[in-house]
Amino acid sequence: MRRGNGRPAERRAVTYALRTAAGSRVVVRGDRLVSPRTPVDHVVALGGGVLLPGLINAHDHLQLNHYPRLGNPPYGNAYQWGRDIHRRHATEIRRAGALPRRDALLFGALKNLLGGATTVVHHDPWHPMLDRAFPVRVARVRVAHSLGFERDLDGALAGDRESRARPFSMHLAEGIDRVAGREVSECERRGLLRRDLLAVHLVAADAEDARRLRRAGAAIVWCPTSNQFLFGRTARQELFAWGPDLLMGTDSLLTATGTLLDELRAARQLGYVSPRRLRDAVSITAACRLGLPAPNLRSGSPADLVFLRQPLFRARPRDVALVIVAGKPRLGDAQFRHLFAHCGVRTQRLQVGGMDKLVAAPLATIARRAVALTPQAGRILQ
Ligand SMILES: [Zn+2]
Repeated sequence: MRRGNGRPAERRAVTYALRTAAGSRVVVRGDRLVSPRTPVDHVVALGGGVLLPGLINAHDHLQLNHYPRLGNPPYGNAYQWGRDIHRRHATEIRRAGALPRRDALLFGALKNLLGGATTVVHHDPWHPMLDRAFPVRVARVRVAHSLGFERDLDGALAGDRESRARPFSMHLAEGIDRVAGREVSECERRGLLRRDLLAVHLVAADAEDARRLRRAGAAIVWCPTSNQFLFGRTARQELFAWGPDLLMGTDSLLTATGTLLDELRAARQLGYVSPRRLRDAVSITAACRLGLPAPNLRSGSPADLVFLRQPLFRARPRDVALVIVAGKPRLGDAQFRHLFAHCGVRTQRLQVGGMDKLVAAPLATIARRAVALTPQAGRILQ
């Protein structure tokens, strides 16, 4: 946010309109959408494409996105992978771990913006910078790593003052062997299968586990490309057949292909659930499960928006033409520079898929640092 010029702080909320080629119009005032008939002095012609509420990424490790994809898959379960990479890749882990935590978290934010996500669930300890002036919204949940790696499951279940009324997220049945295969029934035995559970992965879950999850009303968070990398496959189709609440997550670039758009495309290609359900997985279903306002373009909603030049299941980061979080543009094509200026957002240039984009500072500086450390992390900019 630019300040200064000797002027007093801006009192009136910044207002502008976005107009699509199809003639629809939304008006942003401050961090909210207001009536499309509201008079404005700044109108942005978006051109051709699709304007959507910002997507919701239900699983990420924001500070791990500048690591190379590590391991020697396929593994039987995620515990084997976790132990193996510390033996096999200690040097790479130390090297990537040298990036300051603030930079690492910001690179994670950039990955989310490049995938059209304006809200993300961070599956790791909270960091104070996530509360203020972070480029994307971070939804707070209670987090346990997994049955096998969580040191303080009771503490994780209880949450802290900020998270105790929020859903409970845990990696579950992440693998293809008997260790992973026992976890859903073990969770049921311990009373952990509940309606507030966001069960992440469930690669090993079978039909009986699906019935257990159904009885509990738990939600599924699906990260197909991370699963494919570690285990050579993802969750079974029957897991989705009974119509559980389905959310999508990216996991981190330590295991996954790229952005939320990659996960959506991978899920679409598998054909296990309808396109409608996949759209809802990154929108209304995720919002309901996370206790967030319903994502829509109506007056009164948060001004979290993404404008794509391609349909959702075909879009890649280069097609993400504009991302607005809480009324402020965070990433967009160079043609939208006047909107960034109108909103007082200081920008930097960033090449994405051969196109000139603008990002809120210092995200391009952060991207350069991350890619210099780990060239592989640059795949999200292709
Ligand atoms: Zn994870």
